[in-house]
Amino acid sequence: MEADILVTGESGTIEAPSIVYLIDADEMILVDTSFGNPESMAERHPEFRCHRTTDQQLEAAIQSEGYACSDIDSVVFTHFDWDHCYNLSLFDEDTKFYIQRQELAYAISPYPIHAARYEAKSLGLTPPWLSYDLVPLDGETQLCDGVVAFPTPGHTVGHQSLAVTSPTGTTIVAGDAIPTFQNISDDTDTPQRCGLAMNEIKWWESADEILTRGSKILPGHEWDIVEADAAGRFDWTRHSNTVWTTPPHLARFAVLPTRNGVINGCGLLIFLTNN
Ligand SMILES: [Zn+2]
Repeated sequence: MEADILVTGESGTIEAPSIVYLIDADEMILVDTSFGNPESMAERHPEFRCHRTTDQQLEAAIQSEGYACSDIDSVVFTHFDWDHCYNLSLFDEDTKFYIQRQELAYAISPYPIHAARYEAKSLGLTPPWLSYDLVPLDGETQLCDGVVAFPTPGHTVGHQSLAVTSPTGTTIVAGDAIPTFQNISDDTDTPQRCGLAMNEIKWWESADEILTRGSKILPGHEWDIVEADAAGRFDWTRHSNTVWTTPPHLARFAVLPTRNGVINGCGLLIFLTNN
């Protein structure tokens, strides 16, 4: 995909992982569900070229972390961009699907400039979540002990993130509110760098809130997360002055790339772009 989707001012074609997170708390919570099968994504979004290996499929990724889809009590969608909300049929009927009410309302009838992102009915498409029973959230909501969903609008109208508090601090599962660590690098001229956003002012305020609330940040499309070791550890010190320890259990899997895209090597996820 185009690099500037993730970080404004960057150029060229990149691959990016599409990451989901598992939060093992009083409830087992999955954050986001990634994109659908690559063939149908190619039809719906020809400007991207999605791909994934068998073990990057959602069910396999969850299993590789030692869980089954039936263990998931709740799925929290950060937002309804198409690369975050497929694969719902994998879950039991009593699994709860959370989305902010504002995101749901807008995704059902977006302005034409955002219709493709939401696979809107105005384009003759059916978004993957449409036939499911969703639980709309109105603002900040505690989902279970230590896990709070809170609005982080900007990337989309009703984007949300999760704050996971443990004895070692608070980790924010940021989704696309902070898609990569590049968006929050320690560059003093531009301490935060926006990516694609429906509202850049709200994006900035949400990024600020995430940095204030969390000592660790888990982005939605960051290679370093994918390359973490089996216990979910990676070198957080590269991205922060804080010495971070183990993030919440994390699952990873795969992705999409793009338009005339060159798929560059690395077997895992990808969101590739352009030329
Ligand atoms: Zn995304």
